[in-house]
Amino acid sequence: MKINQIFEQKKPVISFEIFPPKRDGDVNTVYKTIDELAKLNPDYISVTYGAAGTERSDDTLLMASMIKQKYKIESLAHLTCVSSSKKDLDDIFDKYEQHDIENILALRGDLNVSHEANSRAFKYASDLIEYIHDTRPFCIGAACYPEGHVEARSRTVDLINLKHKVSKGADFLVTQLFFDNEKFYDFRNEARSLDIDIPITAGIMPVLNRKQIERMVELSGATLPDKFKKILARYEHNPKALQDAGIAYASEQLIDLLSTGVDGVHLYVMNKPEVAKKLVSNIENIVSVLRSSGQ
Ligand code: FAD
Repeated sequence: MKINQIFEQKKPVISFEIFPPKRDGDVNTVYKTIDELAKLNPDYISVTYGAAGTERSDDTLLMASMIKQKYKIESLAHLTCVSSSKKDLDDIFDKYEQHDIENILALRGDLNVSHEANSRAFKYASDLIEYIHDTRPFCIGAACYPEGHVEARSRTVDLINLKHKVSKGADFLVTQLFFDNEKFYDFRNEARSLDIDIPITAGIMPVLNRKQIERMVELSGATLPDKFKKILARYEHNPKALQDAGIAYASEQLIDLLSTGVDGVHLYVMNKPEVAKKLVSNIENIVSVLRSSGQ
């Protein structure tokens, strides 16, 4: 099913993100993760592309297809265009169609020197989105950044670029992680005031260890609220306590978002089913009340 149809039927839409194993990684961990996530009845599970050191569309395809066929859960296959020619992308689209993948998160990808040297077919995600929209039947998701993308001159410029991206055919948006819900509300208000009216799903990542969060903050530029910094400082040497506090903090964010009203929440669970389980158990009653009341 196309994800834009899921948004038409129910809100909030609940989704998880997983990443395929690295070449030398343990595929069983990913299977175990999906086994556990499936029990939590998500509306869809997304599978990253090129993250964690992999850059093989087949890994994403295999996972996305398995989620659909074996678990009967809708999947969202991420795809970046930063190092691909049009032919590479067309080959990927053909395979995705053959495997009945209906949803693509269309991304540019992070730039690095080797990517710059490549003659890539599309400069921005909006170019990729336009191409998919004009040539293929997929439902198209796109990324957005409540605090502005790290390369953008300002949040306003980034929002104008987002408006352009949406106008090229994006059907829904998933946000970069954030730790301060006010940043998300401000962003959503500004997006709506620019007539960006497709569903916006809030991306939430629980902090599980200090290193992980420092890397995510470096990549995303997300602001760390004082309350959050205190948790990091207080429990950084006690991984179990930090994990508990991280899950509690993310749960608080989720409860606030859901209670205020949100199109969907996307949980970056880092292939850790036990984390997904705890987060979901903290919000499941709230989700069921919201769904039964139509929000
Ligand atoms: P774009 O929308 O192209 O934006 C990139 C930059 O260009 C922004 O600063 C934007 O303001 C600017 N820009 C856009 N259009 C124009 C224009 N017309 N003129 C001038 N400037 C413009 N990365 C992976 O490698 N694999 C993944 O699986 C993955 N999944 C992700 C999932 C989510 C939900 C998010 C939020 C990010 C994900 N990323 C992933 C990271 C993403 O690839 C990076 O953030 C990347 O740097 C930007 O991708 P984009 O699609 O947002 O790019």
